[in-house]
Amino acid sequence: MNVLMIAPPILKSESDKDSWLTIPSLGYGGIENVVYALINGLIYHGCQVTLVGAPGSISFNGLTLIRDVRGSVDISSWIENNHNNFDIIHDHSCGLVFNAQQEKLSFNYIATHHKTGKSPYPENTVYLSYAQRSQAGGNNSPVIRIPIIFENYLLNSQKDDCFLYVGRVSEWKGVHEAASICEKLEAKLIVAGPSWEQDYFDDLINKYSNTVEYIGEVFGLKKIDLLAKAKAVFVLSRFSDGLWGDKWCEPGATIVGEAAASGTPIISSTNGCLSEIVVPDVGIQLEENEINQKDISKLQFQFPNANTVFSYAKNNWNHLLISEQYLTLYKNIINGFHW
Ligand code: UDP
Repeated sequence: MNVLMIAPPILKSESDKDSWLTIPSLGYGGIENVVYALINGLIYHGCQVTLVGAPGSISFNGLTLIRDVRGSVDISSWIENNHNNFDIIHDHSCGLVFNAQQEKLSFNYIATHHKTGKSPYPENTVYLSYAQRSQAGGNNSPVIRIPIIFENYLLNSQKDDCFLYVGRVSEWKGVHEAASICEKLEAKLIVAGPSWEQDYFDDLINKYSNTVEYIGEVFGLKKIDLLAKAKAVFVLSRFSDGLWGDKWCEPGATIVGEAAASGTPIISSTNGCLSEIVVPDVGIQLEENEINQKDISKLQFQFPNANTVFSYAKNNWNHLLISEQYLTLYKNIINGFHW
């Protein structure tokens, strides 16, 4: 099957016109990591994949990169002229290329919703969690979890005595709450990731200077080792105003699968997808009153062991399984099924 994958055409820096985000990302980039894992899985299952929207990415066998078509307007007109070369078009562009206002499409189309709120796509939206789907009003649309390439992580049962946060340092991700718990536990919290919310970041560093060690954005072996060695990874997403105008409802949480692939348990809130994916084999879900609990001795931190975490994740989120689930939907759409 010939699949055209549309990555979100996003510049890392608006002032640098060549800085298109790559697949996979070289640092922060949940959508980019999802698209990468999915492409790998589809190629394993015999698909030919073409990628547009991430022109600086590195190609590999089975993947063709469109490098000379870049911004969303050019991508959309290129697709108008080239869609006959593909059996299906899989859109991850978050509405930048095709959107809900679009007239009826003349090709087979599927899209993955990566954000909060309503789906930005014209039809056939796949959600990353039931919570995300419910917030979007997505009725009975399919839910497919975030794929993880397990070979790209390091399973390790020897954990260091420190906790980890990896992601955007922003209010809706609950980094202050993670730091507050670690402070009460008298444990170190390593924080990795970019921040575009300067006040929130400055407050974190000032208020928790004895607890937080901020190491900036990470990728490659540094990220692999951090995930492998941490005692647990915090994902305390907040029920507060999010990035896109609605209440934050954690859509899929790539970091949960990445930590689990390293045998590292999660300490999460119950926000969005977290209530579905942080099952007892993966980690601990804290209710809001527990997150704000002053007497930390009242909280039980009994983590599943590394092999349990890894096995649950591998059985449910490995990229070969997830890409097979997408492949089934592609075939259904090609046979005329729409939602
Ligand atoms: N990430 C990374 N390096 C960093 C911070 C984040 O590689 O310094 C990655 C992280 O591992 C994950 C992605 O960025 O793959 C963030 O995706 P997630 O779904 O966890 O969060 P969101 O996209 O909602 O911010």
